[in-house]
Amino acid sequence: MTSFLKGKTALVTGSTSGIGLGMARSLAAEGANIIFNGFGDTNEIAQLQHATAREFGVQTAYHNADMAKSPEIEALFAFAADRFGGIDILVNNAGIQHVANVEDFPVEKWDSIIAINLTSAFHTSRLALPYMRKKNWGRIINLASAHGLVGSAGKSAYVAAKHGLVGLTKVTALETAQTGVTCNAICPGFVLTPLVQKQVDTRALKEGLTNEEAKKALLADKQPSGEFVTPEELGALAVFLCTDAAKQVRGVAWNMDGGWVAQ
Ligand code: NAD
Repeated sequence: MTSFLKGKTALVTGSTSGIGLGMARSLAAEGANIIFNGFGDTNEIAQLQHATAREFGVQTAYHNADMAKSPEIEALFAFAADRFGGIDILVNNAGIQHVANVEDFPVEKWDSIIAINLTSAFHTSRLALPYMRKKNWGRIINLASAHGLVGSAGKSAYVAAKHGLVGLTKVTALETAQTGVTCNAICPGFVLTPLVQKQVDTRALKEGLTNEEAKKALLADKQPSGEFVTPEELGALAVFLCTDAAKQVRGVAWNMDGGWVAQ
């Protein structure tokens, strides 16, 4: 712990669970104040928020904006401005998944995935950038996926949204290239979060496998390491992207995927 982010404020969308929670904890460990966002049990979220504040000696807040709704995202930014003056580190992490072939894909699921996994990052970026430019410092980290770089059958909306997010990352990085603001994407392989556990459960049911067998089968399909990536490992990469050493890392889609896209 170096506290090099002390005095900075990080908004991590979808940080009540999984990777977002890992990101929030890693940034808090370096001294950043955290604005949590995402769904879940109100008491559990309050506990999470207070435990993070106590453990790392930072300020924390929570806003329940639905990232599919631009007026709620605007309300979240008004809250952040009021509470912390603005956002220095933006982690666009909120995301959902649905698996079905294109011809069977529910239209409303397509719309939600594009709204939450892609369009929300446009709204948060457009709202965060004026403050970051004024301070001439900022970090935008977009949680894309190995699916931002390659496709998989059954995941049309997700793959389209994540490829789009990598595109948005490149353009934002170019528009801020001569400033102290950087924008990059992180592209994880499989991480064992509720989002992936759902896919493990489906596989177990369909193929008559145990939970452990289904996890192994999922990894064997895509991830040569045979091991899940962890939220802590991804958090460490996000912390690196916030350092001065990373100030010329601009517009990359950095995979951490156990070798997935090397194939
Ligand atoms: P998760 O289901 O554990 O967490 C998702 C978070 O997003 C939760 O906090 C949830 O409340 C929040 N969320 C969902 N819909 C929301 C909405 N409309 N508004 C606000 N918050 C909302 O999932 P995860 O695996 O931690 O995924 C986090 C991100 O990482 C996603 O963008 C996902 O696509 C990406 N990702 C995950 C994996 C993986 O293997 N788990 C791999 C690559 C990329």
